[in-house]
Amino acid sequence: MKDLKLVQKSNNNRLVQVGNVTFGGKEIVLIGGPCAVESPEQVSDAAKTAKKAGAKILRGGIFKPRTSPYSFQGLGEKGINYLVDAAQEQGLLSVTEVIDSYSLELVFNKVDVVQIGARNMQNFQLLKLVGESKKPVILKRGIAATVEEWLLAAEYILAAGNPNVILCERGIRTYETSTRNTLDLSAIGVAKALTYLPVIVDPSHAAGRIDIIPGLSKAAIAAGADGLIIEMHPNPEKALSDGAQSLNPGQFMQLAAELVPVANSVGRTFMNYRGAQESLDDIRIVIDGIDNRIVELIAERMKVVEKIAGQKSLEQIKDKRRESEVNTRLHNLAVDLECPPDLVKRIYTSIFDFAVQKQIQIKSNKQNLTQEAN
Ligand code: PEP
Ligand code: MN
Repeated sequence: MKDLKLVQKSNNNRLVQVGNVTFGGKEIVLIGGPCAVESPEQVSDAAKTAKKAGAKILRGGIFKPRTSPYSFQGLGEKGINYLVDAAQEQGLLSVTEVIDSYSLELVFNKVDVVQIGARNMQNFQLLKLVGESKKPVILKRGIAATVEEWLLAAEYILAAGNPNVILCERGIRTYETSTRNTLDLSAIGVAKALTYLPVIVDPSHAAGRIDIIPGLSKAAIAAGADGLIIEMHPNPEKALSDGAQSLNPGQFMQLAAELVPVANSVGRTFMNYRGAQESLDDIRIVIDGIDNRIVELIAERMKVVEKIAGQKSLEQIKDKRRESEVNTRLHNLAVDLECPPDLVKRIYTSIFDFAVQKQIQIKSNKQNLTQEAN
């Protein structure tokens, strides 16, 4: 790797300063916001959540390089002020992706950080262009790039004169199809061993699904990441891009809270809303996120209950022995988690009632149909 002249760990420190935010220091930097800027309201709501969660930088794509030409391509020029105003209102910095000289010129004096996306990691002309100033750059790893190719892309920016590069691991393409890409946790340590640049992680584009983002985020911090960039949308179901991998405000706040002990456990710090203001509204956002998860899980459980109906005869539906086993297991779990066991018991009495009703209903519908057919 002899051409990694400037990025190579040597006489420099790992710090990249963006306004009052330092990448590569003790503090973990959280960046949050929607995949794409869609409207002033959307990005302003996202900024409020980002701020409350302890994020320092608001993200939002204005020029979206989409895989399909028919997908939403971003608001373009008019989106810039939506992003910048929303960030400023909350005292946050902002980052957006640039895809060519035109988009770079438009956002240059407005946003605090520019992002070069995975698809443009080897757009050498663009790398040289962002290298011409000292503007901080988040350089994402290409989906099929080796660590060396990624670091050589960073070398382009440094060689052109800009030392303020923040590397971002965002998943690479492997043979695995259960996730959008595969987060390469090793790349964090490797990139940090080979360079003096800070390294952040984007779990959202690696996962492509929300359920594993908290785990990946924590793993990234434990593996030495200096920050996280996470997609969050006020209403993910309505998102114009990447809704399936966007956390809702409650989930984002919850994750931010969970990052605090993880950061501390590896000698880093992360200040989230618990360390800052904790107003009733903030707490309610967390509660809303938890309630959504509870209902989602109940819905999932009811789907499985329907499936079980097919395997049981009508007489087997109410299974007292099984209920009592489940009750005992959950009672013990509740005690372990310091959650009132009576509350769990009461909730499960209702859940069992509804499950039995549902199965009886499915069975009798089936019987009626068979009788009709006969
Ligand atoms: C993004 O950050 O919205 C994005 C397009 O990411 P990537 O370039 O990593 O795919
Ligand atoms: Mn995205």
